[in-house]
Amino acid sequence: MALDSDALAQLCAALRRFVDEELIPAEAEVAETDAIPGRIVAQMRELGLFGLTAPEAFGGLGLTMEEEVRAIFELGRAAPAFRSMFATNVGIGMQGIAIDGTPEQKAKYLPRLASGELIGSFALTEPEVGSDAGSVRTTARREGDTYVLNGAKRFITNAPHAGLFTVMARTDPAQKGASGVSAFAVERGTPGLSLGKPEKKMGLQGAHVCDVILKDCRVPASALIGGVEGQGFKTAMKVLDKGRLHIAAACAGLSERILDDMLAYAVGRRQFGKTLADFQLIQAMFADSKAEAYAARCMVIDAARKRDAGLNVSVEASCAKMFASEAVGRIADRNVQVHGGNGYIRDYRAEQLYRDARLFRIYEGTTQIQQIVIAKALVSEARAAAGR
Ligand SMILES: Cc1cc2nc3c(=O)[nH]c(=O)nc-3n(C[C@H](O)[C@H](O)[C@H](O)COP(=O)(O)OP(=O)(O)OC[C@H]3O[C@@H](n4cnc5c(N)ncnc54)[C@H](O)[C@@H]3O)c2cc1C
Repeated sequence: MALDSDALAQLCAALRRFVDEELIPAEAEVAETDAIPGRIVAQMRELGLFGLTAPEAFGGLGLTMEEEVRAIFELGRAAPAFRSMFATNVGIGMQGIAIDGTPEQKAKYLPRLASGELIGSFALTEPEVGSDAGSVRTTARREGDTYVLNGAKRFITNAPHAGLFTVMARTDPAQKGASGVSAFAVERGTPGLSLGKPEKKMGLQGAHVCDVILKDCRVPASALIGGVEGQGFKTAMKVLDKGRLHIAAACAGLSERILDDMLAYAVGRRQFGKTLADFQLIQAMFADSKAEAYAARCMVIDAARKRDAGLNVSVEASCAKMFASEAVGRIADRNVQVHGGNGYIRDYRAEQLYRDARLFRIYEGTTQIQQIVIAKALVSEARAAAGR
């Protein structure tokens, strides 16, 4: 159910305060220790961040897409590792069950995902399967009332903390493409499921990814999400359409934060008897960054409204994800430039946010994959219009 405008404004104001008073001041500690302090995770739970999008019937806030992106504009202003802590529960680690799960799967998992008691991860990528997501090699062989899963999943966000994995696996080995893939809800502790070592990453210290290994991992047939084989890739694409708008909103929020940092530095630092902010070459960087951050925000809101209206927004979600993630990269780069030598030094957040922002162009579909999605739709429309 949509919030009224006052309730949404109050939620966004509370999130902005949380970001300014708790998250941004903790950024250095999180980057240093590679961990989000327990007190902050507890505050996230209290604020309902793990359940922003879970249906109200299961204890979530049930935000619409537009409400979600407005909340993420605020939360995206903090270093992205914080959002990563609850984002798999809001998005890819929960939506498969929320969108396509059976009533029993929803009742079993959604309340605990919404409260943050259970962390959900989404396991699609494999060592040999990345952008070509439909060619999943992990197998799920039916044996009586069970499925036996074998394969390896790579770079799975929050896997070290997860209690539940949405795993994409091939149930029909004869079918090499996406239609042979099914989605499974696999619980941590299931014999045959093990984790690799957390990866050492370029950025997002405090957020953790690792391999998920499935070796004769036997799950009950009731773990098949939606109860129907061959629907897994469709489920993954629905999850990713929504996820791409969420990521685009995070990029727009981070863009605005970085621009604030850039301005704050430039009005304080003096060279040639003036502040940096007096130089027109520096001002051009502010103007370009503002225009790009504003464009990203507008695209995200437009696409979110269309999705809420029931339209297919695959193209708009890809446009928003591609534009916003590329834009935040340029803005983070300008911020380093405005900071000069300090921009290269770890005591300032400019270099951290520059490294953090780099991930947005890679996960949940690289920029090239967004280009392919957009172009494919355009060409197919043009062919249809031309009757070819
Ligand atoms: C920190 C982190 C967290 C992640 N979290 C998750 C997660 O929670 N769950 C999950 O399932 N995955 C996750 N991933 C995986 C991520 O989604 C993939 O890394 C991403 O989709 C790219 O796949 P790849 O790394 O195999 O690159 P590849 O597919 O090998 O691509 C390499 C390069 O080739 C380009 N390319 C590929 N195909 C084409 C083409 N047809 N045309 C033009 N260019 C092409 C790509 O754009 C890219 O530039 C995560 C990754 C990272 C780094």
